[in-house]
Amino acid sequence: MISGLSMELGNGRTIQFWEDRWLPPGVLKDIFPRLFSVSTLQGSVIRDCGFWDGLEWIWSFQWRRELFQWELDLVHQLHELLQSVKPTTEKENGVVWKFDKTGVYSTASFGKVLQAEVLPEEITSYSFTRAVWKGLVPPRVELLTWFVLIGRVNTKDRLCRFRVIAQQDNRCVLCDKAEETAFHLFLECETTWKVWCAWLLALGRQWSLPGTLNDHFESWTELSVRKVDRKKWFIGFFAVIWTTWLERNGRLFRDHTSSMEDIINRSFRYSEKWSGVDPIGC
Ligand SMILES: [Zn+2]
Repeated sequence: MISGLSMELGNGRTIQFWEDRWLPPGVLKDIFPRLFSVSTLQGSVIRDCGFWDGLEWIWSFQWRRELFQWELDLVHQLHELLQSVKPTTEKENGVVWKFDKTGVYSTASFGKVLQAEVLPEEITSYSFTRAVWKGLVPPRVELLTWFVLIGRVNTKDRLCRFRVIAQQDNRCVLCDKAEETAFHLFLECETTWKVWCAWLLALGRQWSLPGTLNDHFESWTELSVRKVDRKKWFIGFFAVIWTTWLERNGRLFRDHTSSMEDIINRSFRYSEKWSGVDPIGC
């Protein structure tokens, strides 16, 4: 099964993520017994432990309860380990997984740069990481939002830095007026800002542009003192982030552009789907 650095994992539908030995260091449930014990993905095959964001594979896990800080550190370690595993789409009849650094677009240096990149200290100390993992929205949405907040989402500025794309390709696909950074794409961009404003209008609030995405997350999720309202705002935050990312990927990879109205409505519908109530209907 292993040949050199490359391990063929097929389409990821037969190997069990936690229980099978598919990584050189060993069986994941033995390496991370605590995470295994709280994982809702016990017995799941690799393919069910993540999702495609259009450009690359994103690992996504779900836990039975909110994790403690030290357990989140283990999650970081798990993600570090998984950095080296890239599913590829080089075969026509399905995804091929390889234990390799030659992913869809990645270069040998890409994996190294990512591994060498140190997580900012605020991630381990700042409370927002715990705030994200509440199980209010699907795990892949939590994970994307977490990536956004810790500055690890693969926006174009980041891909430029790792030389995955050329400098001249760094424009925001939503407005074509600025470089695509996480701050721009998810907050400052005129398209995204209209979505946030639609939420503020619907919920009867006003404010000015926050300085960072983290400030934005904190103020947005702490806007209301009533618990039921807090949940609504909280889910709304995820909904806008998720909607923005899908729209961005749609434009970038499928050449599909939605109208402003559709984008805004979609963010409300996601919120409704995840919370079970219409966010603007009460
Ligand atoms: Zn823009």
